Amino acid sequence: MIVLDGKKVAAEKRAKLREFLTSCKAKGVRMPKLAIVIVGHNPASETYVANKMKACAEVGIEVEKIAFEADITERQLLTEIRKLNRDKSVDGFIVQLPLPEHISEAKVLTTIDYRKDVDGLTPMSIGRSVQGLPAIPSATPSGIRTLLEYYQIPTAGKHVVVIGRSNIVGKPMALMLMQRPYLSLPSVSAAALGDATVTVCHSKTQDLAAICRTADIIIVAAGCPGLLTAEMVKPGATVIDVGINRVEDPASPRGYKLVGDVDFEHVSQVAGAISPVPGGVGPMTIASLLSNVVAVYDMNVPGYKVSE
Ligand code: NDP
Repeated sequence: MIVLDGKKVAAEKRAKLREFLTSCKAKGVRMPKLAIVIVGHNPASETYVANKMKACAEVGIEVEKIAFEADITERQLLTEIRKLNRDKSVDGFIVQLPLPEHISEAKVLTTIDYRKDVDGLTPMSIGRSVQGLPAIPSATPSGIRTLLEYYQIPTAGKHVVVIGRSNIVGKPMALMLMQRPYLSLPSVSAAALGDATVTVCHSKTQDLAAICRTADIIIVAAGCPGLLTAEMVKPGATVIDVGINRVEDPASPRGYKLVGDVDFEHVSQVAGAISPVPGGVGPMTIASLLSNVVAVYDMNVPGYKVSE
């Protein structure tokens, strides 16, 4: 059984980005800039943002955190997003989700210029991907793709079961896997994964276990600790655990620990390859975000723009 070490793969990816940006700096070219918009004080979001900022600094991406109080109106936030769309000093930006209930995530994502959408979550980015047009890939699915590529786990002709149908993980993941070898921004990745037969499951799916047992690869993004058990996994299958769940842990100084959606202890005895939590998909998501920023920057610097 292979443990898919996202921490290691992400570190290698970051090192390559750092090397590229160091060479740009040596030529006197400006460095890329990412802006991160955060609304309110959700502790998990603040941790994610801090991790993203640290990772940016490590590779040489300039990063600006733009924080708003939770009572900012939707209208004010949309105005700030439009400013970022126009700001030539910013290569890309993200709005950390979730947002307070009075702000429509759909409206926010629709307002972000897809050419700066380095999370790859706007309707334009996803729609362009559906049609095989150049688009910035969604960060988490893209990170999973890189992990599968790194460990040379083929997807062509394989049956992949994706558990979860969210706009940020499940749907773009399923799309990426079912595509003819995926088209993205030319410099993001030369990824050739795709060509899978994909089944997407959700909370209304009947007999999830039976469906999972037919899968060569299972990608779980449900936010449900322990959802995938050993009985649901075909011997030798690859299991990717996207879930990040906080569960109480009196032994931890924080009072909680992070677990995924997979019963790692037992599934790892059946699976051929499995990603751990933490240290699997999480670091890969951040590495993909950095890679998306650098890809957009790489096009902006010589004056190239994503073709319309
Ligand atoms: P959502 O809550 O938006 O979606 C969860 C999906 O899982 C839904 O489609 C839901 O079905 C389905 N689901 C929930 N329970 C079950 C069940 N018992 N059986 C089958 N399907 C179920 O979550 P996200 O997609 O945003 O995130 C999923 C998980 O991944 C979370 O733990 C999140 O923290 C984590 N995550 C991790 C990232 C990383 O970088 N590692 C990045 C993003 C998310 P239905 O649609 O019917 O409600």
